Amino acid sequence: MSIKIILEKCTGCSLCVKACPFAAICIVEKKGLPAGKLAAIDLNKCNLCGACIPACKLKAILIEKTEPVGVLADIKDYKGVWVFIEQKKGKVQSVSYELLGKAQELAKKLSCQVSAVFLGNDIEDQIDELIWRGADNVYIVQAPELANFQDEPYTNVLVKLIQKYKPEIFLCGATAIGRSLVSRVAVKINAGLTADCTGLDIDPEKKILLQTRPAFGGNIMATIISPNHRPQMATVRHKVMQPLPVDKQRKGKIIKETFHSSIYASRAKLLDIVEEVESLVNIAEADIIVSGGRGMGGPENFKLLEELAHALGAAVGASRAAVDSGWMPYSHQVGQTGRTVAPKIYFACGISGQIQHLVGMQSSKIIIAINKDPDAPIFKVATYGIVADLFQIVPALTKKFKEVLRR
Ligand code: FAD
Repeated sequence: MSIKIILEKCTGCSLCVKACPFAAICIVEKKGLPAGKLAAIDLNKCNLCGACIPACKLKAILIEKTEPVGVLADIKDYKGVWVFIEQKKGKVQSVSYELLGKAQELAKKLSCQVSAVFLGNDIEDQIDELIWRGADNVYIVQAPELANFQDEPYTNVLVKLIQKYKPEIFLCGATAIGRSLVSRVAVKINAGLTADCTGLDIDPEKKILLQTRPAFGGNIMATIISPNHRPQMATVRHKVMQPLPVDKQRKGKIIKETFHSSIYASRAKLLDIVEEVESLVNIAEADIIVSGGRGMGGPENFKLLEELAHALGAAVGASRAAVDSGWMPYSHQVGQTGRTVAPKIYFACGISGQIQHLVGMQSSKIIIAINKDPDAPIFKVATYGIVADLFQIVPALTKKFKEVLRR
């Protein structure tokens, strides 16, 4: 798209200056004759939002739309939903099972199949599980060079597979590996990529992928589409989607691919893999989380949550407000800039439920919110809401759970 001022029509009335939300337009002296004033657009500031167009009574501003560059002519040849199966030390990572579950849901809406694409070495023993958890096809490539993730060989292999089989949608975990890998793949195949999605769906009319993710610092949720390029590529955070239950009756097709050794060439050499030192609390894996927010009033009161958590065998989580106040360490933070969690039960105590917190916990199976404000947004996602003072409710719950669970 491009924007221009039609010099013959513009009188420098400045209505467009007032309408521009980006302060990208100013009035300048007109060069030449007759003398007068003109609007001038600073293209470094203008984002072509078009707010100036209706403001101009003289129709002196023109936005010209150009055809998107590199539109694929053969979009219809692309079929199926692919999931990149992430493995570490040969073990499939749970985010991949979550994506297979989501992929099945999307594939049903598109009447197509789900394929797992599995790279590694000596990994065949896990193919059945991929099929039991939603894969209709498993594309498997094995080589010693693929045993551990490396950017270049993995990228080269995926690019070849995508070019050969043309999937319509390609999903990958928004993990350190996934983020590094698919961005490279997307560039090489000239496809769009939406990172860190928290929601995926299919447009019922256009049959394209609707990719939802937080935008503008998490203040809004944006839905992004890739209408002109294939595959439509997205990374999705761990614990946002639900895996399917294991179904050992499911059958699938296994497609083994081999490549010339040159494809595995890498300019980087893998010397060692150093395991990340996990924090003592791995809230992402906990079945029950008791979280506290600003409503806890201070660090000393988190003891109440620790007691409830102890009675339930739960982990303690926190909102960013509690973490920023120094009441809890960052490793406990739930939300957009913390951990994404999906426990069986999530207690939100004194947490208002701002969108940045919700995106990190709204996939929890049961949400129990305790808040003294009946209008707190957390109640919109809560399975059970208790409108009360948490300092009365939390100790009462602890007492009861201790009695019932004998802890
Ligand atoms: P508040 O919003 O202040 O809510 C406190 C709640 O406690 C209120 O609803 C109040 O009614 C209740 N309360 C007070 N006293 C009691 C009582 N005695 N009994 C019961 N209820 C009581 N936030 C996150 O949590 N995680 C993130 O990862 C995150 N990332 C962010 C990223 C960005 C880019 C931005 C801009 C913000 C982010 N935030 C995040 C911050 C988020 O917008 C909110 O500010 C934050 O979640 C608020 O925390 P809170 O609910 O604990 O506090």
